[in-house]
Amino acid sequence: MAGLASALGLRRAGWRVTVLERRAGLERYGTAFGIHPTAQAALDRLGEGVGAALRHLAVPYRDAHIRTPDGRRLARLPLERIERKAGCPELLISRPYMIDTLLAALEETGQVSLELGRAAPDPAVLAREYDLVVGADGINSAVRTALFGTRSRPRRLGTAAWIGTADLDSPLHGETWGAGGFFGLTPVEPGRTNWYATAPGATTAEVLRTLFTGWHDPVPRILGGTDPAGWIRYEMRHLYPALPSFVHGGHIALVGDAAHAMTPNLGQGACTALLDAEALARAVTRHAGPGALPEALRAYDTERRRAAQRVALASRTLHRLMTTRHTRTRDALLRLLP
Ligand SMILES: Cc1cc2nc3c(=O)[nH]c(=O)nc-3n(C[C@H](O)[C@H](O)[C@H](O)COP(=O)(O)OP(=O)(O)OC[C@H]3O[C@@H](n4cnc5c(N)ncnc54)[C@H](O)[C@@H]3O)c2cc1C
Repeated sequence: MAGLASALGLRRAGWRVTVLERRAGLERYGTAFGIHPTAQAALDRLGEGVGAALRHLAVPYRDAHIRTPDGRRLARLPLERIERKAGCPELLISRPYMIDTLLAALEETGQVSLELGRAAPDPAVLAREYDLVVGADGINSAVRTALFGTRSRPRRLGTAAWIGTADLDSPLHGETWGAGGFFGLTPVEPGRTNWYATAPGATTAEVLRTLFTGWHDPVPRILGGTDPAGWIRYEMRHLYPALPSFVHGGHIALVGDAAHAMTPNLGQGACTALLDAEALARAVTRHAGPGALPEALRAYDTERRRAAQRVALASRTLHRLMTTRHTRTRDALLRLLP
């Protein structure tokens, strides 16, 4: 996503762009991405009609709560506040739709060469051929390792997450926080519900189902009514410690998870990737002209690094809160929230 969005922004800024993707096809597994109004605005600026195309395929996220496993409400997610402030709602969109939207916009601009099945060589080699190299190669970024070594690297949090989509509308949305684990439900498109779950010891789908037996409706119904063959399990990781810079040598930039992979708890990984891409394209547009690229990259780093790293830290902190076993203190604190 960060790579396609960067390509779109740079193409719009007048650059000729080559996208290298090591896989033979773009991965189309689906989960729902929350797209904050700031990221929607970034999409509007990245390309004509991109934001509108996204809004057409997305659903608004409203009226969601944090609950206890027996169904009592602890707090309201701040979605209405976000909507009031921004004048538009947080949106949810399935990942394949998001990828399709960016690809369609790229095709429309023309002059972007998408080379599937071609892994990026060392960034120093690329830098001899291209004016600007953008490392958008995800959490295991080879570009980041080549530039900054392995001090900042993906670290496991010791938590595994399960995700899936159920073919039914959930009567409620939000998150249910238990001891050491949680279950989330969001809309994704009419008639379908996106879910995600974490529970200590959930090594198999069967164990996961057992661990959520007795949680409020529709949690067991969602797990019981969907085929585990479509579920995805992954180890939660984040980039630690934070990078000292998102740019290198005046002609290489990192965007998205390559720069600041974070836990998914705040639902901001995709949003921050879009904000990076838009900021990078804007910086190179503003600082055009011979020799101006290093200045443009410095401006990009200044705008995005601390902002993205703050979000990553907040997401990590939320992860701790959501997986704590000290639920009495946490829940009492949550009840105090407005
Ligand atoms: C379960 C889950 C739920 C999430 N929910 C949300 C959400 O609600 N909202 C949100 O904002 N974010 C969410 N995220 C985060 C979001 O998915 C990522 O942060 C975002 O997709 C990052 O995109 P990216 O392009 O930086 O990295 P990636 O999507 O990892 O893309 C990197 C690409 O680079 C390619 N690549 C890697 N190495 C090379 C190489 N050497 N040469 C060429 N190509 C290479 C890979 O094949 C891949 O296609 C979620 C993540 C998870 C796991």
